[in-house]
Amino acid sequence: MYRYTINTAKEGFYNITENVKDAVRKSGIKSGICTVYCPHTTAGITINEGADPDVVRDLLFALNKTYPDRTEFRHCEGNSAAHLKSSVMGCSASIIVDEGHLVLGTWQAVYFTEFDGPRTRKFYVQITGE
Ligand code: ZN
Repeated sequence: MYRYTINTAKEGFYNITENVKDAVRKSGIKSGICTVYCPHTTAGITINEGADPDVVRDLLFALNKTYPDRTEFRHCEGNSAAHLKSSVMGCSASIIVDEGHLVLGTWQAVYFTEFDGPRTRKFYVQITGE
């Protein structure tokens, strides 16, 4: 397993594709599955467009419009909206590895999504061969 640390701002999408590619290279595995996992309840992992930065900006905008803070929330920490967005994103992504490379589409990138920073966060990459 490969361990990474990321320092995040308040919220945002952080492109971690190069870290994931680095883990695949280090593993030496040519064919298999790469799992990217985030061990946090107010952050997540997702795959989306990496070419136009306005795409993830729009995703964050829409997530905040769809899942705003609500006075009805009871969680004492006051960050239920961040927990909600974490569950919407999910805490992992699986990517096929073929011929030693991640099988990502031309425009796809892997993102660590922060909804409750600034924090020092961790994510893990595990590659298993077939
Ligand atoms: Zn909380």
